[in-house]
Amino acid sequence: MSNPGVADVPIPVISLTGLTRSFQQGGETIEVLRGVNLAVAPGEIVALLGPSGSGKSTLLQAVGLLEGGFGGKIEIAGCDASHLSGDDRTTLRREAVGFVYQFHHLLPDFSALENVVLPQLLLGTSRPDANARASELLGALGLSERLTHRPSQLSGGEQQRVAVARALANKPVLVLADEPTGNLDEHTADKVLGEFLHLVRTAGSAALVATHNERLAAKMDRVVRLHEGVLS
Ligand code: ADP
Ligand code: MG
Repeated sequence: MSNPGVADVPIPVISLTGLTRSFQQGGETIEVLRGVNLAVAPGEIVALLGPSGSGKSTLLQAVGLLEGGFGGKIEIAGCDASHLSGDDRTTLRREAVGFVYQFHHLLPDFSALENVVLPQLLLGTSRPDANARASELLGALGLSERLTHRPSQLSGGEQQRVAVARALANKPVLVLADEPTGNLDEHTADKVLGEFLHLVRTAGSAALVATHNERLAAKMDRVVRLHEGVLS
């Protein structure tokens, strides 16, 4: 007989225990993260709210396994990141995590379609399947007529939509978004965030979305606040 009380508890997509991070600056130590604890369930969309300089990007970089130098424990989809080699961390990041940044960071010499195809090829998806997935995602974001445009030929909102499609291309269990609409006017920001949340829900991904905007944060499943290096 299985024990349903234990078996039904899903493994968190993110589990942070006592996460710390400090920087040395001009002989001073700045403690940015002072013991962050957080669990994000599969499919849960969490807003990470905090003013500029509160450490949102630092926290997302830790969760995205982009940088070392952290204290405490980071588990992504049940894997303890501190016990992984650099190569295994890169593989876990590629397979499990999609990123959206405030500035799109698209490859300037590649078309919108190619920017969404490339991360799929890196994971071994066939070219036809990658093309089909990219077209489907960009179509869902209203960009069917923009597939061959380069980033410089797109508006800010369109660039962020391509970045959203790229983040979701490999159906990651986790999407990390760092002020994904922070560079857009209010109307466009609302539209792009709504489309982003819809696609994340459709994919069944969990997401941690940094913002300093209470109104945008309220559209998500849960809000956590970063203040003086801890979450409340
Ligand atoms: P947010 O994303 O909430 O605006 P950040 O995570 O970018 O905040 O930064 C939090 C604090 O950490 C800031 O005071 C910033 O100056 C400092 N910081 C971030 N990265 C570095 C770094 N590489 N070196 C020194 N200080 C840093
Ligand atoms: Mg930031």
